[in-house]
Amino acid sequence: MRYRKYSDYLVNKYGEKVYKIPVNLPCTCPNRDGLKGRSGCIFCGEQGAGFEAHDASMEITTQITQNIELIQTKYKAKKYIVYFQNYTNTYMEIDKFRESLLKAIHPNVVGLSISTRPDCISTPYLEVLDEMRRTHDLDIEVELGLQSININTLEKINRGHGLAEYIDAVMRIHQFGFSVCTHLIANLPWDTTEDFIEAGRVLSALGVESVKVHSLYVLRGTKLGDAYENGEIEIISHEAYIERLIAFIQNISEEMVIQRFFGRAPEEATLFCNWGMSWRKLQNLLESELENRDIHQGEKYEIKQNQLKLF
Ligand code: SF4
Repeated sequence: MRYRKYSDYLVNKYGEKVYKIPVNLPCTCPNRDGLKGRSGCIFCGEQGAGFEAHDASMEITTQITQNIELIQTKYKAKKYIVYFQNYTNTYMEIDKFRESLLKAIHPNVVGLSISTRPDCISTPYLEVLDEMRRTHDLDIEVELGLQSININTLEKINRGHGLAEYIDAVMRIHQFGFSVCTHLIANLPWDTTEDFIEAGRVLSALGVESVKVHSLYVLRGTKLGDAYENGEIEIISHEAYIERLIAFIQNISEEMVIQRFFGRAPEEATLFCNWGMSWRKLQNLLESELENRDIHQGEKYEIKQNQLKLF
């Protein structure tokens, strides 16, 4: 095994394949509604990130049952994790949050995955998740958008939070015994390979359970899109991107599960996405490099603790 694949991890844990079902709630984000900012992160489009899910106006139960029917027919699947994907899913009235989670209860659902911002996961929301775990025997994962650990980059992309909020969120989520999945963008134009490697090391040191790595896509009508069209940013080549991924894999802990290595967005909405290549082709390129060069996850990971020499 070259790296810890999410699909393998799920099979080990549940004894069979488990599928994540994306669900879109009609919610917003503090970086859009004015609490933190109005313009949002510079890469985020009006639609947020929920490209693969149904429209948020559709009832949650309908979104779930339709997706289950589809996946059941196609893959004979029996177990699912409901993934509250778009915007900031803990940025709503707490009763509405609980009500939305309750709608995800289904005999074939084994877990909930809640996507949010590191500055939006306060204790009352974690308590609601704890209630879901105890009452309905569900595994809980919180997905945190971090994107970069470089504070200058976080400011450039207008995240509206720093690394400290992320560390604080991870520690509080772990106090409840929930898993954390962190989203990172591997090739933000202001980040170096060293920034990205250090991000992996920070996640590893915090005991973050899994990571979703995204390749930057550029959506039309966003600030990032304007910068791209005006030639103000440069995106590294796909060869350099794969080199970054390899360095990342080598420098993270062996335990961390990797949920993905590339971002995905509909072609018609983007000015740039995955160097015009399919996600599958890039994945194959990465996997053959890992094989040819005999790369293994964690082989360069170390956290140095120098012992003071007392005499
Ligand atoms: S935090 Fe998420 S939803 Fe909000 S603006 Fe940024 S990417 Fe978009």
